[in-house]
Amino acid sequence: MSVTLGYQATATATATAEFRCVHCGHRARAEVTGVGEGVQSILNSGGTAHARARADARLDIGRTLARAKCPKCQLRDGCGVWRFFRSFVIIAVLMMSIGFVLGFAPTWFDLNMRPRDKALVAWLVPALIGGTLVLIMPFQIWFRWAGLDARVRWLAERDPAASM
Ligand SMILES: [Zn+2]
Repeated sequence: MSVTLGYQATATATATAEFRCVHCGHRARAEVTGVGEGVQSILNSGGTAHARARADARLDIGRTLARAKCPKCQLRDGCGVWRFFRSFVIIAVLMMSIGFVLGFAPTWFDLNMRPRDKALVAWLVPALIGGTLVLIMPFQIWFRWAGLDARVRWLAERDPAASM
């Protein structure tokens, strides 16, 4: 038997948005699809994860366009790209901090352990967490980055559908 403590949902949202290149000033309209994730715990009412995922997907339209490759000069906005990697950097720093705190806790709080064991824990716990990050993070980054350019569809300058 499995007990569900939380629930995760994903959603997509598509909208037309205006792109302006920070490098060459090129303007273009694009149909952008955002991908959102939402989680809820057992304390939330049903549908919370879906609602959060939909809201996140709408926000992701702007995030996606901010890191899109300019169709004219083929460059990306460095700020948009950094915002993409920032969350991964924050998670990595946070996890490593926790690793070091846990690793050195026996030393700091003078737990009843042999000095050799304390020294072992001090490097083993950060190494385990660091190793896990190294194994999981590149996959996560690749997974999120891979579909990026496919989710931005550049629209023609004078789209006849736009004037209707
Ligand atoms: Zn450009």
